[in-house]
Amino acid sequence: MTPIYPPEPFRIKVVEPIRLISPGAREAALKEAGYNLFLMKAEDIFIDLLTDSGTGAMSQEQWAAIMRGDESYAGARSFHRLKNAVEDIFGFKHFVPTHQGRAAENILAACLVKPDQWVPSNMHFDTTDANIRARGGRPANLVIDEASDPENQHPFKGNMDITKLKAFIKMYGCEKIPFGMVTVTNNAGGGQPVSMENLKATADVYHESGIPFFIDAARYAENCYFIKQREPGYEQKSVKEIAREMFAFADGMTMSAKKDAIVNIGGLLCLNDDTLFQNIKNELILREGFPTYGGLAGRDLDAMAVGLYEGLDEDYLAYRIGQTAYLAKQLNDTGIPTIQPAGGHGVYINAGAIFPHIPNYEFPAQALAVELYREGGIRGVEIGSVMFACLDPETQQWHYPKLELLRLAIPRRTYTQSHLDYVAESLAKIKSSADQIRGYKFTYAPELLRHFTARFEPL
Ligand SMILES: *Cc1c(COP(=O)(O)O)cnc(C)c1O
Repeated sequence: MTPIYPPEPFRIKVVEPIRLISPGAREAALKEAGYNLFLMKAEDIFIDLLTDSGTGAMSQEQWAAIMRGDESYAGARSFHRLKNAVEDIFGFKHFVPTHQGRAAENILAACLVKPDQWVPSNMHFDTTDANIRARGGRPANLVIDEASDPENQHPFKGNMDITKLKAFIKMYGCEKIPFGMVTVTNNAGGGQPVSMENLKATADVYHESGIPFFIDAARYAENCYFIKQREPGYEQKSVKEIAREMFAFADGMTMSAKKDAIVNIGGLLCLNDDTLFQNIKNELILREGFPTYGGLAGRDLDAMAVGLYEGLDEDYLAYRIGQTAYLAKQLNDTGIPTIQPAGGHGVYINAGAIFPHIPNYEFPAQALAVELYREGGIRGVEIGSVMFACLDPETQQWHYPKLELLRLAIPRRTYTQSHLDYVAESLAKIKSSADQIRGYKFTYAPELLRHFTARFEPL
């Protein structure tokens, strides 16, 4: 029998205590943080679903590998162990380690992007977007329209819109496009996967115009598992085989190893081009470190070498994708709407639909984030008007995002099903008295990336 929601394929050997502080202490902590959950002490959080980035639990094999770390400045054994894993899984000719995904993006953008050039993708993650802009370039998001409809059940809602991509290249010309990307899974669009068919079509369009194709591979293993489950012809292939097929379409990749390589810090930049590799190594030495450690300790490289394989383990992936689907199902059963279908790494709650009486300029998803902490000591992240509303400098009009979402990201191998049950119960309680909840206003907000440091007051 295959269970619908497979139990954890591990048992617990080390525990990290967490505690739920009293309602009075939670209220005081909220007030002190200006009702911004980024400004709270992690110690005051009971269940932390702020992000799945670097928050996973390492295995006994990874901790053992840490002890084997070789801290030689150049040519360490740790580097060669990582090199073997990276070549075996991804199949690119060259690679360098970096301290995080954004460092790989920074180096790639520094080597390739010139002012007024464009970099298309299905959807850029915010650090990729910012690294392209930091070099004077312009990111473009060309995901299929189904991605912005929360009810739509399309199995590959992260797909690139091939018609839009062709028109885009025709409009700007290939000399204005130093490289093109696709993000798997599409983090900014709800952790939705991209199909193999779509990846191939995207690669073909880029290559017909001579544009190099890079994959943002932070959650490539989750994406490959979705392909195995949902795309005809892949049922019998291993996730690793699917990954090899996927990366063979690309000229390179950037990766935050804090996601599917299940480490607390690390990143990768892989590619085939020899000249570009030389330039990347020079930039890496300037920004990160020598090419055999790239801003990491030897022990970090070893943890990554092991984690890359554990992230591809199919029992683990069945449990992980099942955990996300389980939380979404528990919420949907009590009438709490989430983006459909459930994505890979988190559940995205439609807060605007739970609080229809709170207008977007009073931040319904922020209100839900605060309420979830107040009720259960649980931390999620607002992905709505606090994060994305912006003032048009020409018209002085505010532009609001289409959806007001609260994301509950699930760290890897960290929480059990009973933690998730508790999260669902806390949200059900909030929903039953939703009409009592009021919105928020800013008491402080910086101009850019304001969600990190803003302070609020309840209305
Ligand atoms: C996390 C992430 C990044 C950036 O990686 P960091 O390790 O946080 O610097 C880039 N792209 C995607 C899709 C991500 O999820």
